[in-house]
Amino acid sequence: MKADVLVIGGGLAATWTALAAAQAGGDVVLVDKGYCGTSGVTATAGVTHWFVEPGDHERAVAERHAQAGGIADAEQALRVLRTTWERLPTLDRYYPFPVRDGRPDRTNNVRGPEYLRAMRGLVHRAGVRILDHHPALELLLRPDGSVGGAAGVRRQAGGNWQVRAGAVVLATGGTAFRSHLLGSRGNTGDGHLMAVEAGARLSGMEFSNYYTLAPAFSTMARSMAYLFGTYTDADGRVIELPSGPDRNRVLGAAMLRGPVYTTLDRAPEWVRRKMPVVQPNFLLPFTRRGIDPYRDRFEVTLLGEGTIRGVGGLVTGPDCATGVPGLFAAGDVASRVPVVGAISGGGSPNSAWAVSSGTWAGRAAVRH
Ligand SMILES: Cc1cc2nc3c(=O)[nH]c(=O)nc-3n(C[C@H](O)[C@H](O)[C@H](O)COP(=O)(O)OP(=O)(O)OC[C@H]3O[C@@H](n4cnc5c(N)ncnc54)[C@H](O)[C@@H]3O)c2cc1C
Repeated sequence: MKADVLVIGGGLAATWTALAAAQAGGDVVLVDKGYCGTSGVTATAGVTHWFVEPGDHERAVAERHAQAGGIADAEQALRVLRTTWERLPTLDRYYPFPVRDGRPDRTNNVRGPEYLRAMRGLVHRAGVRILDHHPALELLLRPDGSVGGAAGVRRQAGGNWQVRAGAVVLATGGTAFRSHLLGSRGNTGDGHLMAVEAGARLSGMEFSNYYTLAPAFSTMARSMAYLFGTYTDADGRVIELPSGPDRNRVLGAAMLRGPVYTTLDRAPEWVRRKMPVVQPNFLLPFTRRGIDPYRDRFEVTLLGEGTIRGVGGLVTGPDCATGVPGLFAAGDVASRVPVVGAISGGGSPNSAWAVSSGTWAGRAAVRH
């Protein structure tokens, strides 16, 4: 098969990339390891975007970068805000953003399953050829070292596939190093490996040591409600937690001593009402076990988030070029250090980065 642009991945960044490339006039093929529209970490989750009114961009960046360890790039973060502001409203006709105060709320409460389903529909209608269950295993290099396609296997139909393309965009997500973080099972770092083998570089991998709370019996890593938990050890003694990022450090230390339990008994009524709407999957593992998380005590664990809510990844320049001719990277597979510095990109910048880096990479790959 031949194409102008091959997009590897099927999540948030891949779909925004494929859409931008097709809208720029490219003939685009998208290959996903899973089923595009349900694969990747956003499809399981409620998504919050870094979507800020233009008049507040500089303030928003200054606030974030105050904790960034001095290594973020304000201009790059501003570009992300500008592109996200430009691109996200183009989804209005296809995804019913929740309405707040009479206006669409594109920041909070965006439901991952419907969002990604809408993205698949848009990509499909833009003429992109979508190949589901087609994991990429290797990049195809031209004699001059530039990237000219990729090859992999067809998991359902059997046999191999090969796509020759003018440019390739990697959008294979971050990796949680198989920690069982929600939605990350297929994100095994393949894109990082393929890119490094082709000559690309990694950066910020040391800022990939974030952990998130989850029930010990489940991968459900939607952690907002855990802010309202009372934590106890095996003997029922309350574990006092500091506020802020040190909470998980104290919880981790307690887990090294023995099992830790919680009950989300301090969750206010509005949180209990909102959880099933914003994060529809949150209650599922509890319901299946007959547990009421707001009343019953259950064991919790910490799941490593690797480079997914961490920020390490492939070094990219303007337009998301990797430095290897013909190879671009978008979303979590790319380093987000320029956008957020040495702190987690979760909580909204990562999804804004997926939207904006996908847009830049898709357009640049067509021009390449
Ligand atoms: C539970 C959870 C909730 C989150 N919520 C937010 C949030 O609210 N706000 C925020 O900013 N960030 C959030 N994040 C961070 C999130 O990672 C990004 O927002 C965004 O989803 C990244 O998109 P992506 O396309 O780069 O990666 P993903 O959405 O993970 O997509 C990766 C894609 O690559 C495919 N793939 C992998 N390997 C291959 C291969 N070899 N060949 C072909 N395809 C392959 C996968 O099948 C998948 O389709 C969250 C993360 C988690 C885990």
